Amino acid sequence: MTADPNSPPGGAVILACRQLGKTFTDGGLRVTALKGIDLEVRAGSCIGIIGASGSGKSTLLHLLGGLDTPSAGEITVAGKALAQLTAPELDKLRNRQLGFVYQFHHLLPEFTVLENVAMPLLIRGLGASRAQTLADQALAELGLAERRRHRPAELSGGERQRTAIARALVTRPGCILADEPTGNLDEATAEQVFKVMLELNKSHGISLVLVTHNLRLLHNLEQVYELRDGRLHAGRPAE
Ligand code: ADP
Ligand code: MG
Repeated sequence: MTADPNSPPGGAVILACRQLGKTFTDGGLRVTALKGIDLEVRAGSCIGIIGASGSGKSTLLHLLGGLDTPSAGEITVAGKALAQLTAPELDKLRNRQLGFVYQFHHLLPEFTVLENVAMPLLIRGLGASRAQTLADQALAELGLAERRRHRPAELSGGERQRTAIARALVTRPGCILADEPTGNLDEATAEQVFKVMLELNKSHGISLVLVTHNLRLLHNLEQVYELRDGRLHAGRPAE
């Protein structure tokens, strides 16, 4: 493969969409959430997406992560067009290539921190002891080694969110899709959790697509887009 002199800097394309559109039809009411979105996420890059409430940020991340199907356009993950995959192939690709972090941690309350983080590896078919070793490594990286035997209810908000990040990281995905991962945290904790995500991006080269409406957190990101009127606009809005 020859390098294209016009392509943006960075590694291979991990995740891309072309002319992506989504229209919801609810009881005869049509809502067009996204229109003609083009986006390319390269290995190791870090992309911020902002936008008013209801502008389509979550819809876009769901589509990119293969959790919902588009009304128009195409999504590729690691070079594979999602629309052409069977359900098991899609599950496998998602498990190998993508990590998800949400505003609410979605940890399983009856399991320990360690078990929650090991879960995606067990789903992948790894043996329990190997899964536990890798989960412990991820927890150590996020400063949660001491919390491994605790249950989610015993953690602070920031610790829960870091556990959710460890769970997204443990499979060493190509890209983490994060939907307002700090939206439920106080300002100082939000900043800490945000920093952890940026460090993982730098140290492991995991691409990051980060949706937030906290403009203060965005100044470190290389690329920022705003979702407005169903379209992605490059650049930061006037602050
Ligand atoms: P954001 O995450 O930016 O707040 P969303 O992606 O959740 O925005 O929503 C974008 C638009 O799509 C909103 O108008 C919302 O009401 C609509 N929408 C989202 N999900 C659905 C759904 N499942 N059914 C109908 N409309 C939806
Ligand atoms: Mg949302």
